[in-house]
Amino acid sequence: VGTIMEVFKAAWRPSVAERIAIRADQKSYTYTQLLSSACNISRLLSGTDIEVNNKGAGGHGNLGGARIGIVAKPSAEFVAGVLGTWLGGGVAVPLALSHPETELLHVMNDSDISFVLSTEDYSESMQSVATRCAAQFSLIPPVSNTFSSSNTTDESQIGEIDENPALIIYTSGTTGKPKGVVHTHKSISAQVKMLADAWEYTTNDQFLHCLPLHHVHGLFNALLAPLYAGASVEFMPKFSVRSIWQRWRESYPINGTKADDAITVFTGVPTMYTRLIQGYQAMDPEQQAASASAARQLRLMMCGSSALPQPVMHEWETITGHCLLERYGMTEFVMAISNPLKGARKAGTVGKPFPGVQVRIAEDKNGGGTTGEGELCVKSPSLFKEYWKLPQVTKESFTDDGFFKTGDACRVDEDGYYVILGRTSADIMKVGGYKLSALEIESVLLQHPDIAECCVFGLPDKDYGEAVSAIVVLDSEQKRKLEESNSAFSLEYLCNWAKDKLAPYKLPTRLMVWDSLPRNAMGKVNKKELKRQLGNEK
Ligand code: ATP
Ligand code: MG
Repeated sequence: VGTIMEVFKAAWRPSVAERIAIRADQKSYTYTQLLSSACNISRLLSGTDIEVNNKGAGGHGNLGGARIGIVAKPSAEFVAGVLGTWLGGGVAVPLALSHPETELLHVMNDSDISFVLSTEDYSESMQSVATRCAAQFSLIPPVSNTFSSSNTTDESQIGEIDENPALIIYTSGTTGKPKGVVHTHKSISAQVKMLADAWEYTTNDQFLHCLPLHHVHGLFNALLAPLYAGASVEFMPKFSVRSIWQRWRESYPINGTKADDAITVFTGVPTMYTRLIQGYQAMDPEQQAASASAARQLRLMMCGSSALPQPVMHEWETITGHCLLERYGMTEFVMAISNPLKGARKAGTVGKPFPGVQVRIAEDKNGGGTTGEGELCVKSPSLFKEYWKLPQVTKESFTDDGFFKTGDACRVDEDGYYVILGRTSADIMKVGGYKLSALEIESVLLQHPDIAECCVFGLPDKDYGEAVSAIVVLDSEQKRKLEESNSAFSLEYLCNWAKDKLAPYKLPTRLMVWDSLPRNAMGKVNKKELKRQLGNEK
């Protein structure tokens, strides 16, 4: 059987091999360099005496499914670490740099890491963490001018793809403790092909990448699928509004030329676009003109990981001319539903299922239905194998006929586009007799000129079951004006404005004005946690 590495090697045919795969820290690395580094790492891992008895998750190669933790900032070394693990038959576990040590230890112990691969900058702390979870430790050698390897694979000879584990990604932990999601060589290769096909990634594409690599958005959309397509990925490890606008301006200078390394594709989470809009508004008119004209020339701009509020989408289009391509994904199946590359992208929807993906709404009793409203269920070749060491949770997450229950509510609009209403556990509020979508209300509140960010959820209410509660963060300019005129942003003021935009039962009945929202690495707000805190506080 073939592995994901055979799939990659077949894609990196001679015409791709000498192209640039990764740019980072002002350096660039070709596919050949990346692959030969991966070979070195695979030898390094296989040469050590990793105890795989009863630790192995099953699989080929010397590593036999041993888990290899990878802790490195987004870099060529990180990528070489993952590819090297796969070459050796290991299971890659990308770990969060931002996690406090205790959380990191939890994940490492949970996944029974045998080996930690890291880089100089994390060497000291990671060595001690590795020792504490009885794992071996090694630095990833810098990717550089290593020997050239000419062993490409012939795609026609790959055959069936290995169904053994290759990757464990932990979920964002928005609704509870992060769960280890096990992906196989087969589910990974199905997904990278699906994405590269749908969005027409090519060798001419250059991605600007500023997402974490331990979640699927950054790992699949913006790294593995581009690499499968032979594109280049440029890492900007720290999200910086200023640097992004600047990088776009450099890509397309105002005199109409296009730089050789011009960025063509960008993908981000909704809060990134909110921040980019704020950054744009703070520029002087000349810089605004240069920035907008540069952004306009990218081929594709995408958004996902949480709901893209319609006002943000519209404002982005006004500035850059780009109708953001919103898609829907989850660690468990990576991406399954997307607005089209060509054709209408509808605000407030995530588009239609990718070819090969089956989708249905659980509550449709007559089976296979897509009418009504309810829990979205997905069957896809990119579906994960299981939750790591959680057989019961895995079992409960699937229907008898193999559909994965997402925990997200949705409906299908008149054009067959899917509308995500939010998590059944935190975004669907039960108020009186109504079931309300917090996402829908958030999208309306964000149209208020004073509101920069907001978050809506239900808090316990003795009369109605739940009360529509909103936390808002005010736009700094508007906030200053309010303070100057000695007025406060009140619930009454908000509802007065919103009353012709929302049905009366959808209007917030509690309002909190905060300086910021507590967001995780993917820009998500843990509403369950907020509800727990605020529900208990009163
Ligand atoms: P956990 O499973 O640990 O609670 P999580 O579900 O946030 O965390 P992820 O797998 O990273 O972890 O996120 C998937 C979720 O993100 C989806 O279930 C969905 O609720 C949300 N999501 C992703 N894309 C979109 C989108 N375009 N619109 C609305 N929600 C989205
Ligand atoms: Mg989830």
